[in-house]
Amino acid sequence: MNSRGKEIMRRDDNFSRKRVVVIGAGVAGITLALELAKRGKFEVTLVNERNEIGFSPCLLPYYIAGEVSRKDLFRFGVEDINSKGIEVALGSKLREIDVGEKIVKVETEESDGKNREIGYDVLCLCVGATKPKIKLQHDGSVPLTKLQNVRDADRIIELAGNSESVAIIGSGLIGLEVSEALKKRGLKVVMVEAQPTILPALLDSNIAEVVEEKVRGGVEVVTGVRVLGIKDGSVLLEGGKKLKVDFAVNCTGFVPDLEMVRKAGIECDVGIIVDDKFRTNIPSVYACGDCAEVTHFLTGKRALSKFAPSAAKQAMMLARIIGGEKSVKYAGFLENWISVLDGFYFGGCGLTEKDARAHFDYVVSSTTRGKGREVVKLVCSGKDGKLLGLQAAGRSMVIPELLNLASVMIRNRASVYDVEEYMFNYHPLVSDVFHIVEKLAMACRKKLELK
Ligand SMILES: Cc1cc2nc3c(=O)[nH]c(=O)nc-3n(C[C@H](O)[C@H](O)[C@H](O)COP(=O)(O)OP(=O)(O)OC[C@H]3O[C@@H](n4cnc5c(N)ncnc54)[C@H](O)[C@@H]3O)c2cc1C
Repeated sequence: MNSRGKEIMRRDDNFSRKRVVVIGAGVAGITLALELAKRGKFEVTLVNERNEIGFSPCLLPYYIAGEVSRKDLFRFGVEDINSKGIEVALGSKLREIDVGEKIVKVETEESDGKNREIGYDVLCLCVGATKPKIKLQHDGSVPLTKLQNVRDADRIIELAGNSESVAIIGSGLIGLEVSEALKKRGLKVVMVEAQPTILPALLDSNIAEVVEEKVRGGVEVVTGVRVLGIKDGSVLLEGGKKLKVDFAVNCTGFVPDLEMVRKAGIECDVGIIVDDKFRTNIPSVYACGDCAEVTHFLTGKRALSKFAPSAAKQAMMLARIIGGEKSVKYAGFLENWISVLDGFYFGGCGLTEKDARAHFDYVVSSTTRGKGREVVKLVCSGKDGKLLGLQAAGRSMVIPELLNLASVMIRNRASVYDVEEYMFNYHPLVSDVFHIVEKLAMACRKKLELK
C-alpha cells in the first residue's frame, strides 16, 4: 500500500474514533488525556485557557523561594503531550458549552472575539478551582496578588525584588509555604489568619500549634483577625489595626468558577455534581479533579477534594470508565496531604477531630509524641472504633509514610481493635516495641471502654 493509501486508511480509522474534548490541562486534565491516548481508540483534544501547562502547582512556593528552578517546575511540555497524538489547544478559554449540539466554544487571542467551535462525543471538565474564595476590597494602593500559576509566581518574585515587607492573607497550606518562601527572600512577613489557629481547615488546634511554633521562627503570625481589605497603602484588619506593607498575597484559597457550566444546564452546587462514575446530569459530560463535587469516603457526603493525588486518581479512573470498564466506580476521596518546610513535616489524612465531630455523634482522639519527637494525633469513631483521621507534625522523616499507612488503614475501614492486632517491626534504634499508631489506638480504645 502506498503512503497515500496509508493516510486515507488512517483518516477513516480516526473518523470512527470517539472525539473526547478535555477542558483544563492541569493535574486531572493532563492525566486524563494521556491515559485516554494510551488506549488508542479516542481522538483527544486538550484545551487550556493559559499557554503554560505541565507545571506542578505544588512546587510554586519552592520556586519563589529559589529552591526549585523554572525548568524543574515543568513535568511535561506541549511536545510530550502532542507526541502521544493529543491535540493541544492552548490560550483557549472555554466560553460556552452547547450540550444540545455537543459543541464547546473557546476564545483564543487570535479569534478576535469570535469563538472557535470544537465538537465532541465526550466532554470532560477538568477546570480546577480558579476563583479566589474571598474577594478582598482593594483600592490598588498596594499590589495584591495570588498564587495559582507560574505567571503569579513570577509576579510575586518580581514584587519581592522591590519590597521589604509583605502580608500573607490566609494561613492554609499555600499561605504557609509562601510565607516561608518570602522569608527566605529576606522579606519581613506577616501572615494573617481569621481563625484562632493556623491551617484551620486541615489541622486540629493542638497540632496546628506545633506547626505555628515552627513558623513563628521567622514570620509574624496574627490569628483570630479578619482582613477587611486594602486601602490607602495598608492592609486593614478587623478591629481597626493597619498593616503597612509593600504588597500582599491573597492565600484564602480557590473555589471552582462555575458560571459557564451552570449556564449549560450542568448541575452544580459548590462544584460540578458528579456520580460515582464522574457523570454529570448531562449525558456524555463528565467532570473530575478540583472542580468536581464527589463523595467523601468517610462521611458519604458530597464535597470538593483539594489535592493533587485525588485529582490524578479521579482522572485515571475516569479514563478507565470512558475506556469502557463497566465495573469501575469511585468509592470517594480521602484527604492525604503533607508539606515540608526546611525538614519540618506536617500533614493529615482523613478527618480532623473538629470535622469528625460535625459528622459523627461520638468521636475520640489521642495525641502523643513519637521516637523522633514528632507529634501525632489519631481520631476515631466512638461508635465502633473505626479510624477516621491522623495528623502529624515534626522533624521526623517517618511522617510521610505514617500518613500513607493511616490512609491505607482508613481506606480498609480498620478499627482501633484491628490496629492492636497488626504486627509492626521493632529495633531499639529505629522504633519502639509498640508502633506509634498502635499506642494511639490503645489509648483511643481505653477511652471507648470508659464511655
Ligand atoms: C500554590 C499551590 C500549591 C499546591 N500544593 C499542593 C501540594 O503540595 N499537594 C497537593 O496535593 N496539592 C497541592 N495543590 C493543589 C493541587 O495543585 C490541585 O489539587 C490540583 O492541581 C487539582 O488539579 P485539577 O486538574 O483539578 O486543577 P488544576 O491543576 O488547577 O487545573 C485546572 C486547569 O484548567 C484550566 N482552566 C480553568 N478554567 C478554564 C477555562 N474556562 N477554559 C480553559 N481552561 C480552563 C486552568 O488554567 C488549569 O490549567 C497546590 C495548589 C497550588 C495553587
